[in-house]
Formats: sequence, C-alpha cells, structure tokens
Amino acid sequence: MTLIEEASAGKITIPVATVAGNEGIDPESLTRRVAEGRVAIMQRGDRALGIGQGLCTKVNVNIGTSTLQISQEKEVTKAKVAEKLGADTISDLSMGGDIPCIRREIFRHTTVPITTVPIYQTAAEVGLQKMQGKDILTTIHQQAEQGISSLVIHGVNWRILDLLKGKKRLLPMVSKGGSITSAYMCIHDCDNPFFEFFDEILAILKRYDIVLSLGNTARSGCIQDARDRAQQEEIRQNISLAERAHAEGVQVIIEGAGGHIRYDRIARYIRYYKRHTRFPLFVAGPLPTDIAIGYDHIAGCVGASVASANGADYLCYLTPAEHLCLPNAEHVREGLVAFKIAAHIGDMVKYGKDGADRALSLKRAELDRSGQLAFAIDEDRVKVLAGNGMDCSMCGDFCAIRMMKNYLGSR
Ligand code: SF4
Repeated sequence: MTLIEEASAGKITIPVATVAGNEGIDPESLTRRVAEGRVAIMQRGDRALGIGQGLCTKVNVNIGTSTLQISQEKEVTKAKVAEKLGADTISDLSMGGDIPCIRREIFRHTTVPITTVPIYQTAAEVGLQKMQGKDILTTIHQQAEQGISSLVIHGVNWRILDLLKGKKRLLPMVSKGGSITSAYMCIHDCDNPFFEFFDEILAILKRYDIVLSLGNTARSGCIQDARDRAQQEEIRQNISLAERAHAEGVQVIIEGAGGHIRYDRIARYIRYYKRHTRFPLFVAGPLPTDIAIGYDHIAGCVGASVASANGADYLCYLTPAEHLCLPNAEHVREGLVAFKIAAHIGDMVKYGKDGADRALSLKRAELDRSGQLAFAIDEDRVKVLAGNGMDCSMCGDFCAIRMMKNYLGSR
C-alpha cells in the first residue's frame, strides 16, 4: 500500500510519525492531510520529508551536468555542499555524461530525497528527434529503480501551446522540461506523451511510492509576461492530473506561480493557486525583477519570501549563475542560503516560527558572538566574517549595544 492508501485507512505509518515528530505536529492530523493530498511525503531509506499544509517551508537545490559541462566530481561536490547546508531535497537534472553513473554517485554521497526530470535524461540519451514515449517510460523505470523520491513531468497540452502561439509574450516558454515535451509534441504531431502513458507512469510511481511533481511549463520568463490564459489552463490541467494521481494513491505536488513575477503580484498568484487546489505548491523563485542578473539568488530570495509567507510550501532555489552558466559549488551555497532565508521568513509569517531569531538576539544583546553561531543559517560564513576577534569591529569603541549595556544597564 502507498502512504496515501495507508493514511486513507487511518493508519499512522512510520514516515508519517517521523514527519510529525520532526515538525512537532499531531500524527493523526498529519495522516488526514496525507490522505487528502494536502501533504506529500518524500521517502528515502529511513528519511521522510513532509511538504504541504502546516509544515515548514522546504527548499530544493537543482544540480546536474549540462550537455556542455560534464564533471561527475563537481556534481558530487555540489550535492555534498547542498546536503551539508541543509537542503531538504536535491534535484539531479543531469543531461550530460554517463547520467545513471553520475546519479549513482550523487546517491552514494547524500541521504536527502532525490528528484529527477525523466524527459531530460531521455532527450539527452536518445535525442529529441528519435525519442519515443516508450523511451521515457524506460527512463522512469530506471530512475525509480535507482531510488528517486519524486519525479517531474510536464502537463503541457495543445490548448496551452495554441495560447502561447497566439499570445504576444516576450518569452513564450522558459521551462526546459516543458519545452522538450512541447518540441516532442510538435515533431510527432501528437499529444503529450505523459498523457498517453499516464496510467503506466502512475503504476510505476505507485509501486515505489514516488511523489509526482507536475511541472510549471507556462511560468513567465520575464515580469512583462503577467499571468495569462496559458497559465490558467496549465493550472486546470495540472489539477486534473493531480486528482487522477491522488485517486490512484500516488502523492502529488504541483509546481506553479514560479518564474518572473512582479513583486506586487506574487501574493495574489500564490493565493489564487491555494484557492484552486489543496495539493502542495512548489514554486521556482519567483524573481520580482529581470535585471538582477548575476544576483538572481538575492532577487529570488525577495520573491520567495513573499511566496512562502503567502502559502508556498516548497521553494526551488535560484543561484547567482541563473541565465548565465551551470552553477558551481559556491553558487549552490549562495543560492541555498538565500532560499533558506526566504523559507524561514515565510515560516515566521505563516506559523510565527521566530524562536531562533529571539534566541540569537538575546545572545547579541549579551555581545556573545560565539553564542549566536548556533542560530545562524550559515555558521561557516559567520566564522569567516567574525575572524578571531572577540568583538565586532564595525563601530569600534562606539558599539551601541555595549554603550547602552553600560549606561542604561546600570539605571
Ligand atoms: S559594534 Fe556596532 S554593529 Fe557591532 S555589535 Fe556593536 S552596535 Fe552592532
């Protein structure tokens, strides 16, 4: 039985109990949320990670080779950096080199849930022109056998493509998986292969209890391209696929409201999703400006904070390398830290989770530098900037906290 089936039968499973313990919530209520599809649990070995209603906002890190840059060693390093700094999940998006071997090594060096986008590997190995639906199924089988915890498919349909053709977007489509799927449909003049093989895909996901993630093909690629009918059609299509998967006992996450979105629209878009569906919402970014190129992790942190505060359950990080190059390990670190900050800001708004902020401030008020470390999002960074000095050197002799401790403290 899958987690949904067991939860629907009222059974509190070990993964549910694990997530409830980690999140500090009641296992009965979590079981109900899993049964209803409001929470998805990714499993890997003994690990269980909950995503969805009432749970802390999670952060995903994308790594993986491209067709132009292939280094198994660098991808493993990125995976290790991501896990060390507290990534909740890692998506291996490799499209170059010996992809199964690279993924095997990533598995060997990590313990967090791993996600894949099977059409990437299929297109890379078989070729966009030659690829057939059955090749995608073969890849899904192989990746399921490797132990992935979730996989992404793109529910693009001809109505979305027609809307994108007719609509004057500055950037018609910026989703790689969505564009590969769309190119396949155009090359073969056929429907989406994931629709044709949806029952077979669900059967594989069910057998391994893998979470289905429905991709955000119609996301906007610049802030000029506001929400349009293509995005609304994608939401409708993804909800319909999600309901079919859920009815089969397969857990689902929907990706949406990602991409480039003007700051004042982000909250509205997130709430729109939340009104239309109960399934956990996965958001890439969003970027509230297009000109932060080289600093997209910072712009993304701003957008993701708003998204998270307004209900996004799961954030896909952005790195400084976005739109520029394949990220290196340092870019992964910077992007992950930025998005952990965004997730934390969101959790403070959603759940009032400010205990660490208070604890750190108490240490700061005591001018206890090393005491602050335990609550820092990136302890190593604090150590580097603090150096070996006992005191903060910013204001020198005129440290406001010290002066007020001396003068107000004695009153
Ligand atoms: S020296 Fe200035 S910046 Fe540093 S702790 Fe004191 S008040 Fe804060």
